[in-house]
Amino acid sequence: MNSSVFQTPIEYLKGVGLNRAGVLKKELQIAGFEDLLNYFPYKYIDRTRFYKIKDIQPDLPYVQVLARLTHIDILGEKHTRRLVAQAKDDTGTIELVWFQGVKWIEKTLIIGKVYVLFGKPGFFNGKTQMAHPELELYNAEAQQRKGNLTLQPAYNSTEKLKQYSLDSKGIQKLVACLLEQYLREVHETLPLYIINRFKLTARADAYKNIHFPDDQSKLNEAVYRLKFEELFLLQLKLLKNKLLHTQKFKGNIFQSVGDIFNNFYHHKLPFPLTNAQKRVLKEIRQDTQRGIQMNRLLQGDVGSGKTVVALMSMLIAIDNGFQTCIMAPTEILANQHYQTIKELVGDDFIEVALLTGSTSKKARNILHEKLESGDLKILIGTHALIEDKVKFKNLGFVVIDEQHRFGVEQRAKLWRKNIIPPHILVMTATPIPRTLAMTLYGDLDISVIDELPAGRKPIQTVHFYEGQRLRMFGFMKQEIAKGRQVYVVYPLIQESEKLDLKNLEDGTEVMAREFPLPDFRISIVHGKMSAADKQFEMNRFIKHETQIMVATTVIEVGVNIPNASVMVIENAERFGLSQLHQLRGRVGRGAEQSFCILMSHTKLSRDGKIRLDTMVKTNNGFEIAETDLQLRGPGNIDGTRQSGVLDLKLANIVTDQELLITVRRFVESIFEKDPQLAAPENQILHQSLRSKDEGLSWNKIS
Ligand code: ADP
Ligand code: MG
Repeated sequence: MNSSVFQTPIEYLKGVGLNRAGVLKKELQIAGFEDLLNYFPYKYIDRTRFYKIKDIQPDLPYVQVLARLTHIDILGEKHTRRLVAQAKDDTGTIELVWFQGVKWIEKTLIIGKVYVLFGKPGFFNGKTQMAHPELELYNAEAQQRKGNLTLQPAYNSTEKLKQYSLDSKGIQKLVACLLEQYLREVHETLPLYIINRFKLTARADAYKNIHFPDDQSKLNEAVYRLKFEELFLLQLKLLKNKLLHTQKFKGNIFQSVGDIFNNFYHHKLPFPLTNAQKRVLKEIRQDTQRGIQMNRLLQGDVGSGKTVVALMSMLIAIDNGFQTCIMAPTEILANQHYQTIKELVGDDFIEVALLTGSTSKKARNILHEKLESGDLKILIGTHALIEDKVKFKNLGFVVIDEQHRFGVEQRAKLWRKNIIPPHILVMTATPIPRTLAMTLYGDLDISVIDELPAGRKPIQTVHFYEGQRLRMFGFMKQEIAKGRQVYVVYPLIQESEKLDLKNLEDGTEVMAREFPLPDFRISIVHGKMSAADKQFEMNRFIKHETQIMVATTVIEVGVNIPNASVMVIENAERFGLSQLHQLRGRVGRGAEQSFCILMSHTKLSRDGKIRLDTMVKTNNGFEIAETDLQLRGPGNIDGTRQSGVLDLKLANIVTDQELLITVRRFVESIFEKDPQLAAPENQILHQSLRSKDEGLSWNKIS
């Protein structure tokens, strides 16, 4: 929208004024003309047809009836006082009831006249009834004139707004007024060639018809046009940012693969890489040779082997004289990466250091020195890494694990550690459906590891109800007898932390009774414990001193204990799908057959049942993510909330997938042909982009 009348504050619209402007702003965030223009009806009421009274069914939403008023009565006393009228057509009688404004209504009604009645039908005492119908005297001529105004818009309102006479009707009037005065100021945002190619309605027509559709097909066209535009401009912006980024940010060039990598590859790597791992390595290799900063998101299910890929990329960086680091969201995870990587590379090969909040001052000082001198090549840690005191000589490659837990600022800080920003690899085990990734990370490059290492047995998942608890215990014992270890996880939800802790404690008690010493030993880990205590308990489990680990979701991410082969999830119905999937991913990491037991109450919501069924049905993270997206909608998927990228008004990335993909491809083709959008026919797009909110910028995302 060009800097036009639509920027005008809403109080200047006829019929608004300061008071109403205040509530519109507060209740609906309508501050200017543009906001009102984009405040779309949430539904449309069909006024195209008149119902015969005999055809009215109880489940019809709103109906319109043409009937002659035959009778008026005032019944009841005081608070039961009501006006009851009767109206007839040639098929039957309908009863009309008013509980409020009785006097006034009585005065206006005229017996014997034909009225257009409109309202939600009900049935009472065997009679067809309508409470508080809208009604107007039937006038054949007026009806003719209205002719086409058939789908009546309904706008969401609030109690507060209603006090200012801004119910749906009131808002409708404002919109009508806006359109009447300014519709001709609604300018086109898309080039003609796009409009023609996708057979889009002109923008002004679309706005007219989304508010006051001439008919259903006009409405459909309007919605399509506006959705298209919304997705188009978003993708245009994302891809433009991506392009800009590649022009703006230089990247270190990793010339060659050297001894360190080769040595590791040929002598240390204990298994062959999967094809997916090889492919991703190749992608990273290409990125780091271009002289442009890499920003790559690496998606892969838990256990798919992302860490090895990250490590091998780091070795290439080191081969080229750079330092590297891995940043993890928690101490446990940082520690785990540290252990894993140390084990993989071996002590004699290359020094690996750990830096977390618990690192002693003395150790820290030594680290700082080694980092500044460039002697230390691999640093693993938590947020502690990004403190200003931590200075690298030449940081070239950064791995961020589980990106959505890091804030924007934190990531930005990492890059500032070098003049040429380091290459960034963000790893996430939360698979993101393709369409969501397109919208959310549209300006990042994405790699996917979609293949598990060979020989892994798929985890078997069952859903047990409370009544099957003994069976579950029996199964645990059986597996423990085989030398396996078991996780038992309790939900931890912010609002009822106390209760959850109690659940955990009660559960632990039951466990302790069921699994008594000395045959069984239990570790307990929960969020209220100190990091040191957690680590201690964790270590007991890792060292197999305990066979059962009772925990809240602190173990969700990344913990790797191959001998643990059973995951019991208590109150599984209280977890979201992606969380369940993450938890389940803690097992199935060794050679043994692994199991996941979902315990739940018998009373399940529909969604709860779908979630558990999905878990039983599939191990595929992307499939699970799709279901999750469908159940919860895009706004609730992990990591999307803060992004603001998904403030889509009309388009829905679940139901409009096909359109989104089409648009994305099309925008890509535009940039391929005309990267600067320099062609005359694309000039209009600069304007459209500029007027689109500043909302989205590249570094908001990575
Ligand atoms: P992720 O980080 O994706 O969850 P990891 O990198 O932690 O996965 O790998 C999980 C386990 O699988 C680790 O024990 C790792 O050593 C092992 N692993 C990784 N890649 C392979 C492979 N290609 N073949 C066999 N085992 C592998
Ligand atoms: Mg991992």
